[in-house]
Amino acid sequence: MLLIKNGRVLDPASGTDAAMDVLLDAGRVAKIAPEISAPSAEVLDARGWIVAPGFIDLHCHLREPGDENSETIATGARAAVRGGFTAVCCMPNTQPVNDNASVTRAILERAAAADQARVWPIGAASAGSKGESLAEIAAMKQAGIVAVSDDGRPIASANLLRQVMDYCRALGLTVVDHCEDASLAAGAVMREGPTSARLGLRGMPAAAESVCVARDVQTAGLTGCPLHIAHLSARASLDLVRAAKRDGLAVTCEVTPHHFTLIDEDVRYDTRYKMNPPLGSREDRQALLNGLADGTVDAIATDHAPHELALKDVEFDRAPFGIIGFETALALALEQIVHSGRIPLMRLVELFTTGPARVLGRERRLAEGAPADLTLFSTNHAWTFHAEESASKSRNSPFDGRSFRGAPMATIVGGRVVYKR
Ligand SMILES: [Zn+2]
Ligand SMILES: [Zn+2]
Repeated sequence: MLLIKNGRVLDPASGTDAAMDVLLDAGRVAKIAPEISAPSAEVLDARGWIVAPGFIDLHCHLREPGDENSETIATGARAAVRGGFTAVCCMPNTQPVNDNASVTRAILERAAAADQARVWPIGAASAGSKGESLAEIAAMKQAGIVAVSDDGRPIASANLLRQVMDYCRALGLTVVDHCEDASLAAGAVMREGPTSARLGLRGMPAAAESVCVARDVQTAGLTGCPLHIAHLSARASLDLVRAAKRDGLAVTCEVTPHHFTLIDEDVRYDTRYKMNPPLGSREDRQALLNGLADGTVDAIATDHAPHELALKDVEFDRAPFGIIGFETALALALEQIVHSGRIPLMRLVELFTTGPARVLGRERRLAEGAPADLTLFSTNHAWTFHAEESASKSRNSPFDGRSFRGAPMATIVGGRVVYKR
């Protein structure tokens, strides 16, 4: 038994915001009440901390199998709990691709052995994510995937997307798409605009994303399948999601901390600022902040994308896309949208808990009987992120050396404290 004393419980599902103790027993929440007495329980003092349902990251890359020099399931899951995440959804673009049940099962076995964050695999939509024929979606669902995506690239054609969606609707799976029109994005390494022109780097227009979002939203309307837009970065894409929601379609989206914090003008030639989709314009960032505040954005997701040093230590044009993100996500969200006064703390917790759960057709709540997955965090703990101290195997972060106010303080998975600051 674990007794969490003196914390401030925030539960978006019930609207609870109160000073309460929380008693965990046998992997479940046993009791939530003021002043619980449980003499035999181990005590965790959460004075000054928020006690929230366990954070879920809808989007990460754990690189195993295939690129264990950049990350393994164990190191990724360790970095995840240091970021306050109790569950992370890993994308299928490993080697081999997670497009069949045996790869799904191998991922789950390694995650169970690591015993840190829960790992919820996302299965490929097409075989090898090649965009030709369907992956073994039903068998992967049986094995434990939570959604379907060809992330790293979009689902190749509207017709294939329609087939995937017809299939996933029947199976009760959400389709997650990396929206990018290949012809508009060809050869691009950053967002097209005055900055790309000044740096002499090839840019992709914002429309490379939004034309694909339009295709996807209309295909979701055609099939009735839940659609989730990954790492949405452009104002026009957000407008399409907002309209789809107004029309009653099951369309959701996530935004990453780097897209709501940085813009294309930050790029210079530093490969730690190279990610896909690329950093947007000042206006795009403002639109994302508005979407986080008004409810159009459903979740904050990291798109944690580790790359070992040698891969990123090359010219900007040749570097792979992506940055690590688990350990800075909450602090960036506090900095950009809570401390700045844009959203209340309850909405922030929603973006990390009930929001992502809803995308997957799941529940997330801090209530008696619920699984004992909890994230305890401080809104004012002062600290500095040093990439070389990350639990990830990789160091590719543009936030190396940045100082923050607020951090995850303890992460509890299945009633066990897997991380304590
Ligand atoms: Zn992607
Ligand atoms: Zn990704």
